Amino acid sequence: METLILDGKQIAEEMRAEMTAEVKRLKAEHGLVPGLAVVLVGENPASISYVTAKQKAAEEMGIHSEEHRRSADFAEEELLKLVDQLNNDPKIHGILVQLPLPKHIDETKVLYKIDPDKDVDGFHPVNLGKLMIGEPAFLPCTPHGVQQILVRSGFNPDGKHVVIVGRSNIVGKPVANILLQKKPGANATVTICHTGTKDLAQYTCQADILIVAAGRPNTVNGDMVREGVVVIDVGVNRIEDASRPRGFRLVGDVDFESVKPKARAITPVPGGVGPMTITMLLYNTIESAKMRLSA
Ligand code: NAP
Repeated sequence: METLILDGKQIAEEMRAEMTAEVKRLKAEHGLVPGLAVVLVGENPASISYVTAKQKAAEEMGIHSEEHRRSADFAEEELLKLVDQLNNDPKIHGILVQLPLPKHIDETKVLYKIDPDKDVDGFHPVNLGKLMIGEPAFLPCTPHGVQQILVRSGFNPDGKHVVIVGRSNIVGKPVANILLQKKPGANATVTICHTGTKDLAQYTCQADILIVAAGRPNTVNGDMVREGVVVIDVGVNRIEDASRPRGFRLVGDVDFESVKPKARAITPVPGGVGPMTITMLLYNTIESAKMRLSA
């Protein structure tokens, strides 16, 4: 059977069309415009381009979006005050503080300051704790995007053995918790691997669904998977490539060429998980606005 390439860009576009319709409905029926505040401290070029992309996507969807850009020497205390001001701003339903922050600022302190009801990144311990005990919560965007790719492509994780490579707080652990839930689109048997795992291939070979978020190219190759596996490659790595205008190309954590012939389906990099992350951030912003209607 031919390998299906899981087109994250197309799934993200489908979701964005649904969400644009929902934003229109909220405005027409309730006069409610979801609002997102993006906070950027410093001049990190990657952060600037992420923030620009997030705002552009929000505006295209009809979401009110505002950027709070501050210089790299902005004081931690001032940043905490800014977050507090946004916590109390009724126009704002989602707050995103772009990471990484400059070294003199304690990231944890800032993330903990965000009102959990406006934590659309889903990184606040209150939301992570709710996820763990199965209560409704804002789900972290990339892991939630992984679940959406699987479900919307017809690969429901229910009853499947999902093997995850990576245990970070932003990808590995939350994706494990999402797919472990006794809920539709989840209910999987989950194995988590990391650098302490002896003989990684022994586990990856058992996966019905393999999710790789290791941050290293070629962490998984064709000898490490079984026929028919569904592969989600979360990794984004820059590889020097003089033939490209920018001098590099992006690759995932999976050796696409050797894994693809054995896989039932696989996400490409770029164009797989990446486009879903911003979409899920905006999804959370709309959900947050809707929570205000019932509050
Ligand atoms: P991270 O914090 O560096 O965590 C990597 C995890 O992988 C760690 O748990 C590490 O184990 C494990 N690991 C690394 N090499 C391994 C190996 N050879 N065998 C087994 N486990 C291994 O990275 P992250 O933040 O989760 O991100 C992972 C990748 O996803 C990165 O490439 C990142 O750029 C990408 N990413 C993409 C998106 C997107 O929107 N597409 C979003 C977020 C992240 P230890 O815990 O033992 O160190």
